[in-house]
Amino acid sequence: MKQVNLTGDRPTGRLHVGHYVGSLKERVALQNTGKYDEIYIMIADAQALTDNAEHPEKVRQNIMQVALDYLACGIDPDQSTIFIQSMIPELTELTFYYMNLVTVSRVQRNPTVKAEIKQRNFEASIPVGFFCYPISQAADITAFRATAVPAGEDQEPMLEQCREIVRKFNEIYGETLAEPKIILPANQACLRLPGIDGKAKMSKSLGNCIYLSDEPDTIKTKVMSMFTDPTHLRKDDPGHTEGNPVFIYLDAFSKPEYFAEFLPEYSCLEELKEHYQRGGLGDVTVKKFLNHVMQSELAPIRERRKMWEQRLPEVFEILKEGTKTARAVASETLCEVRHAMKIDYFADDNLLK
Ligand code: ATP
Ligand code: MG
Repeated sequence: MKQVNLTGDRPTGRLHVGHYVGSLKERVALQNTGKYDEIYIMIADAQALTDNAEHPEKVRQNIMQVALDYLACGIDPDQSTIFIQSMIPELTELTFYYMNLVTVSRVQRNPTVKAEIKQRNFEASIPVGFFCYPISQAADITAFRATAVPAGEDQEPMLEQCREIVRKFNEIYGETLAEPKIILPANQACLRLPGIDGKAKMSKSLGNCIYLSDEPDTIKTKVMSMFTDPTHLRKDDPGHTEGNPVFIYLDAFSKPEYFAEFLPEYSCLEELKEHYQRGGLGDVTVKKFLNHVMQSELAPIRERRKMWEQRLPEVFEILKEGTKTARAVASETLCEVRHAMKIDYFADDNLLK
């Protein structure tokens, strides 16, 4: 079977370090293994509009920003097809057919949808389109016959729902679609990176992000203002490292060589954690180290981004070409779907018989 990798991001803002550790880093690594026959990366503008219908300008402006973030992280347009969701109407059509295979109560049980409805205060006014986005996501994944989706933990319920749709479709209409699997980050801290405010998830919609394009002084200000352990009031107090965003970020980003370079008093993260737990280690020391780590991780990404910012017409061509390639693939799948569903009326003259 062909190995196909597909992922997507909503153009509701620039991409942040949560996207990077939760998914983007893995996408680049998988891309560079050369093990995939096809790789698709989707800018999910139609999905972004499901909860931003009144803000089309925001979505439009972030198309190029997200594309720049991809290229900055090492997504290579020669190996990966980058495309824009709404430019492929076949995806909307497929969503419409899948809607018949899912019950309202099944979507209501989806824990990510539940959490996002709460986060957006949508309780009494959920847009139907937003409610259906897990179904549209299943269409995106299956239109490209994706077998693997590298994503953060919040995507697990989406993939589960997608597999259910695939099974139901194949059961009713015959074997047509492929079941995808999720590839979660191996590092626990990267499954769901918290925000700098200590909230459970760094998210564009919550405004608690360090962006991949942030300038060095912005990164520093954000790191130095980060939420830590509220019980660690004085330097000598014993502190908690578990659930402490500063240490979660260190779990996600620090490498042994950063200790030698920026904090040689400690040989590794474990030693630093033990000192903090015991008491006697101040937040400022830890944050200063984290700042060095983040600066080192983000500098090459920011530089590559600046290089691509000088080549916007080329980025535009990459999106245009990628969308053309992607549309051809989706439209092939749609032909097979229509045939399986017996709605390809004009493919022959059988209607006359
Ligand atoms: P929005 O607030 O508009 O939903 P978002 O910040 O949640 O934006 P998405 O575009 O929904 O970002 O997510 C894109 C990808 O990045 C998904 O694979 C998701 O799992 C991953 N991701 C997003 N935020 C995090 C995070 N804080 N930690 C780990 N992975 C994340
Ligand atoms: Mg999201």
